[in-house]
Amino acid sequence: MSPYMDEARLLLKKHYGYDQFRPAQEPVVESLIAGRDTLAIMPTGAGKSICFQIPALMFPGITLVISPLISLMKDQVDAMREQGIDATFINSTLSSEESRERLAGIAHGSYKLVYVAPERLDTDYFQSILERQTISMVAVDEAHCLSQWGHDFRPSYQQIAPFIAGLRRRPLVAAFTATATPEVREDIIRLLGLQDPAVHVSGFDRPNLYFGVITGEDKDSFLLHYIEDHPRDAGIIYAATRKNVERIYAYLQKHHVAIGRYHAGLSDEERERTQDDFLYDNLQVIAATNAFGMGIDKSNVRFVIHYNMPKSLEGYYQEAGRAGRDGEPGECLLLYAPQDILTQKYLINVSTDDEERKAHNLAKLQRMIDYCHTPDCLRAFIIRYFGGTPEKAECGNCSNCRANREKADVTTEAQMVFSCIYRMHERYGTTLVAQVLKGSSEKRIRDLRLDALSTYGLMKDKPLKEIRLLIQRFIATDYLTLTESEYPVLRLAPPAYDVLRGQLKVFQPLPQTKKRRASAPADAGLFETLRALRKDIASREQIPPYLIFSDATLRDMCRVRPKNLEAMREVKGVGERKLARFGKEFLAAILAGK
Ligand code: ADP
Repeated sequence: MSPYMDEARLLLKKHYGYDQFRPAQEPVVESLIAGRDTLAIMPTGAGKSICFQIPALMFPGITLVISPLISLMKDQVDAMREQGIDATFINSTLSSEESRERLAGIAHGSYKLVYVAPERLDTDYFQSILERQTISMVAVDEAHCLSQWGHDFRPSYQQIAPFIAGLRRRPLVAAFTATATPEVREDIIRLLGLQDPAVHVSGFDRPNLYFGVITGEDKDSFLLHYIEDHPRDAGIIYAATRKNVERIYAYLQKHHVAIGRYHAGLSDEERERTQDDFLYDNLQVIAATNAFGMGIDKSNVRFVIHYNMPKSLEGYYQEAGRAGRDGEPGECLLLYAPQDILTQKYLINVSTDDEERKAHNLAKLQRMIDYCHTPDCLRAFIIRYFGGTPEKAECGNCSNCRANREKADVTTEAQMVFSCIYRMHERYGTTLVAQVLKGSSEKRIRDLRLDALSTYGLMKDKPLKEIRLLIQRFIATDYLTLTESEYPVLRLAPPAYDVLRGQLKVFQPLPQTKKRRASAPADAGLFETLRALRKDIASREQIPPYLIFSDATLRDMCRVRPKNLEAMREVKGVGERKLARFGKEFLAAILAGK
């Protein structure tokens, strides 16, 4: 073990308040301080930033951190300054006055870490200032943006390699990403010109996250009930289109949820305000397209719900992975409906004319669809997708592993639905079939003379919603298919005929009664007091609450219950600077809480 690791650990305790590196961080820090180019592939929340920040503090001169998103820079730099680290960022949000000041600061050696957007790298002025500095390391964050095959290709990333090549002395190069399939990994090494790199791939598992696929529910009422059941939890709802974001936003706002919206169609100001309100815990929930989130470091996001299925598992895992970055339990739920497939296919079709790329994206979509349908462990599915080997076949913490094993025989209902579709000559969609079964008096049904069918009104005792739900479940379990057309039409799949002939019985899990995460900790009262205190301090200091202390740190305070400031050091996440700034107030609240 390198003798420098002890120094690294001291810095970790001093600035971050953590006693040790996580197992996945240790080898990355070690290979960097040994001076070796390094590619680290670590899932979101694994603690990537510390892996380059600590070596940066140990190296002479500056570490440049290249990062694609402005919000990420501001967040990380704010967090580091709270921890007593000299860091800054340079990007287009700064006025020319501010840029000049910061560049002067760089020239004076006032910073250990400088975050820059890749677009900045080829400006002459920036380069001329750097020329006179020692740049020990270039750390490339979100390195998958280099690859055309990644899900987030950014042309500006192509400027990084020429920039490095143009430096007076080649710095150490480190690349970090959360999502990389083997082909993307190869691309990063090649395109950045990493020299004999150490490649660290940490396990993709995020054991604190619960994964669930929810099929056949009314999505809106599911959302509302979920949020009502989790009134204190911050969460993100992702939808595939702006239109859906707007709808969800309006619906939940009507029901008094503190919600914001975020998509590319809104003004920069509105997006920035929404993001800040979310970071500052003024909004409980954000409804967003995938434009939101890369670089959202808010560590106390407790749930991420996908209202629509995304187009690839890479994208899904990255978005879902924004839950529970602090290591506390988080829930990642995907509300699946077969219509989502059509939306995504459409989006893929219009996204490019390149046939090879299209086929590649469609294949990825198919794996995403498979995820929604698999009856096996969801976590194992994800881990295998990223080239890993699951430790166990069943994780016990996903909707399939925890599914209510008790199933109901729904053969009769299935026969009613299938024969109705059959009698309607497989020419109509879900709504009309459900209406016929219900015995609806809609004009369209009379016009089409569907009220003369023997299946008309066969399910008149069931609410229409429940009939639709049954149909959606039969689609999800492959008894029925939907055509890929603008108005999808229901067709019978081969097993449906076996059911109609009485040769096959159909069982479905009983509707899930609401299940909750692990029950509230015994210290829920104190935790809430500390949370409220954190919010007060955050408003006073004008920084997001999670930058004061993470949820995990508050929980650890409840566990340790320090009696004095010295004992407060034992709490995970209390470093020197934060102890000095906030220690007393939290201590007082803990002592009063006894
Ligand atoms: P990533 O960039 O990989 O998504 P972050 O760097 O944001 O992850 O870290 C995620 C969370 O884990 C943060 O709250 C961070 O403070 C915490 N963390 C990182 N390293 C450690 C550690 N060694 N011990 C405890 N918590 C850690």
